[in-house]
Amino acid sequence: MASSSLPGWRLPDEGVLFVVSGPSGVGKSTLVQAAMATIPGLSFSVSATTRTPREGERDGVHYHFLSRERFDTLVARGAFLEHATVYHQAYGTLMEPTREALSSGRSLLLDIDVQGSRQVRAGWAAAVHVLIVPPELEALESRLRARDTDPEEVVRQRMAQVAEQVGAIAEYDYVVINDDLDTAHRAFQAILLAEMSRVRRRASLVSDIERALEDRGETG
Ligand code: ADP
Ligand code: 5GP
Repeated sequence: MASSSLPGWRLPDEGVLFVVSGPSGVGKSTLVQAAMATIPGLSFSVSATTRTPREGERDGVHYHFLSRERFDTLVARGAFLEHATVYHQAYGTLMEPTREALSSGRSLLLDIDVQGSRQVRAGWAAAVHVLIVPPELEALESRLRARDTDPEEVVRQRMAQVAEQVGAIAEYDYVVINDDLDTAHRAFQAILLAEMSRVRRRASLVSDIERALEDRGETG
C-alpha cells in the first residue's frame, strides 16, 4: 500500500491542487504516475476531452472521452473549472470531482496546458503550478517519436506548440528539468511533499499538537 512508504504521514486538511504543465512528450505522465505510487493521498484529475483515445488509454482512467456536443453542453452548464483547446481538440477539468477530492483532504494532480494553468490561477489562488521542461528541445522530439503512438503530422503539430508551453516558465511556481529521470522524480516529489507539508495547510495537526501540550501543561 502506498501509505506504508511514508510512515507517520497525515493528509493536509484541504488537499493541494497541483497544476502540472509542459509540452507533450516531456514526461508529465511518467512523473505523475510515479508520484502517485509513492505519495499517499494524491490522485490524478481525469480530464474530459474530445480527442480520440490512444492505444492503451481507457475511458474514465486517462480521460473522459466525450463527443464535441457533450463537451459543449458541459461548458454551457459551467461544469468546468477550466477548459481549453489544445491541438484542435477540447480539454477540460470538471469542477465537481475537483472540489470533492480537495475537501476530503486528497491532493490532485492536473496535467493541463498553460491556458488551463492561467484559468486555474485566476479561480483557485491556492493552487501550486509546476512546469516540466526538457533539457533541450531536440530531446523532446525524439521522445515523442519514441512513444510511437501519434502519426507524423500530430508529432509535428505538438512540436509547434512547445514554445507556447516552455515560454510561459515565468508564470510558474516551480520548474523541473526532466533530463536524468531519477533526479526529475526526486525533484518533482520534493515539491509535492513540501507543499503538502506546509503548516498553513495543517490547522488540525497544529491544534492537535497544541492541545496535547496543553494537556501536559506545557503550552509554548
Ligand atoms: P507526457 O505525459 O508529457 O506527454 P510521457 O510521460 O508520456 O510524456 O513521456 C513521453 C516519453 O518519454 C515516454 O516514452 C517516456 O517513457 C519517455 N521519457 C520520460 N522521461 C524521460 C527521461 N527523463 N529520459 C528519457 N525518456 C523519458
Ligand atoms: P494529450 O493529448 O497528449 O494527452 O494532451 C495534450 C495537452 O493537453 C497536454 O499539454 C495536456 O497537458 C493538455 N491537457 C490535458 N488535459 C487538459 C485539461 O483538462 N485542460 C487543459 N487546459 N489542458 C489539458
